[in-house]
Amino acid sequence: MKSFRSQIRHSALALVIGLLTVFTVLVYWGFERALNQYVDSRLVDLARTLGKLIDDQPNLLQTSQQEISNFDLGKTSKERQRTLREASHFILVLSPDGTLIWKGSAVIDRPLITDILLAKVQEGQVVYDTVHSLNEPPVRRVSIPVPEHKGPHYILQAETSLRFSQEALSSLLLLLAVFSGITIALAWLGSNWIGRKALSSVKILSSTAENISGPPFRTPLILNPPYQEFMPLTKAFNGMLERLQKNFEEQRHFVDYAAHEMRTPLTVLQGNIEVTLQKARTVEEYRDALLTNLEQVERLVMLTRSLLILAKFSGDHSAVQLVPLELEPILQDLINDLMVLAEDQQILLTLESQPVPSVLGDADRLKQLLINLLDNAIRYTPPGGTVVVRMDIKEQNVAIAVEDSGHGIEPKHLPHLFDRFYRTDSSRVRNSGGTGLGLLIVKEIAAAHHGTVTVHSEVGKGSVFTLLLPILKDLP
Ligand code: ADP
Repeated sequence: MKSFRSQIRHSALALVIGLLTVFTVLVYWGFERALNQYVDSRLVDLARTLGKLIDDQPNLLQTSQQEISNFDLGKTSKERQRTLREASHFILVLSPDGTLIWKGSAVIDRPLITDILLAKVQEGQVVYDTVHSLNEPPVRRVSIPVPEHKGPHYILQAETSLRFSQEALSSLLLLLAVFSGITIALAWLGSNWIGRKALSSVKILSSTAENISGPPFRTPLILNPPYQEFMPLTKAFNGMLERLQKNFEEQRHFVDYAAHEMRTPLTVLQGNIEVTLQKARTVEEYRDALLTNLEQVERLVMLTRSLLILAKFSGDHSAVQLVPLELEPILQDLINDLMVLAEDQQILLTLESQPVPSVLGDADRLKQLLINLLDNAIRYTPPGGTVVVRMDIKEQNVAIAVEDSGHGIEPKHLPHLFDRFYRTDSSRVRNSGGTGLGLLIVKEIAAAHHGTVTVHSEVGKGSVFTLLLPILKDLP
């Protein structure tokens, strides 16, 4: 696995090396350019002055073959005069066709300028070339027409060694290399320090996480990170701890409730059996005792079944296999199945269905949901009442409403109806055989279908539980 710290180091190093390379290239290139311009401008300045002198005093070329020392330099400064005299030792004077007319005493034989460059000078241009030789530093040479226009009388060539420029450039390169080396070393050490500093907050987080071996998760992480970017991580971590604690408490309460719910029928069972065994009984008495016990066993079976369903569903919506579903046949089948039960209770059960589009659903789970709603409706509606199942479309959803004419639910109970083991009237409802988990299962299944379930109830008039399921769009 990759190390974040070495990733920081490598990235910082790559960035520094990249920037240094660009910096070095730019500085070197800029310095070289400036140096070349300086050398060229000095060279052409000298050549032009000498060219002008020769053009003004052509007899200078006849007086001496090797020296031009008798310049009439007028008011030129001593320093300038010295420079001009020195420079004159290195000049060549050619005729416009390139034949040598005169050369300075210190002129070294160099390759002639190319015909192309010569043609340019003949046209009145100033041309530069660099002459390379094996054992010497290169030489910069300028060829200028004298006078400076087309059809010159002479061509003057002056040169200067590039030794100084080369040495200056080499020194600069060395300086840049040393600077780069030091910067890279500092970047390496600095990135290591930054990496350690940046990860210190994460280290605290992970060691806290390691110390949390189990509930309770009440101790929040007190981390005062120097960098604001770590605040969200700290908050998220503490948020997670809070959620874990809440979850843990919910689970504990759930187990408490479940154990309590189981204890009641088990206590009744135990009591019944003990009382029955106290003395000899008639067959009729044994039969009654067994029937009472069977009721309690049924309650336990129902409770266990509900708990198993919830265990599958709670927080895990992948427990449903969602496929495109037609709801009408499912509803019709359910109504047919429950008709007998409803008739038994003298309740009129009917279905009023509009044509609706398909939804994404798990047929078995949706049946379970609807059975729970219908079972409640039939259970909490007195004989002679009605239960109507209505299906239609409501705001991009398929709405299935289970409407009964039962005794209704008081407003104070409505917000808690979908809580676990919540009953509006425990003693009465326990007798009616409910587990207090039916509506919680309804809520979980609806959520797993990306749907919702709501309740509307009026005491004395009845209740309506409405399930909304999103319509499956773009179905062929
Ligand atoms: P139970 O298995 O006890 O019915 P539910 O979770 O299904 O548990 O329902 C919770 C409580 O909501 C019930 O105990 C009952 O008091 C109330 N309830 C549910 N449906 C209806 C209804 N159609 N009419 C009146 N009360 C209802």
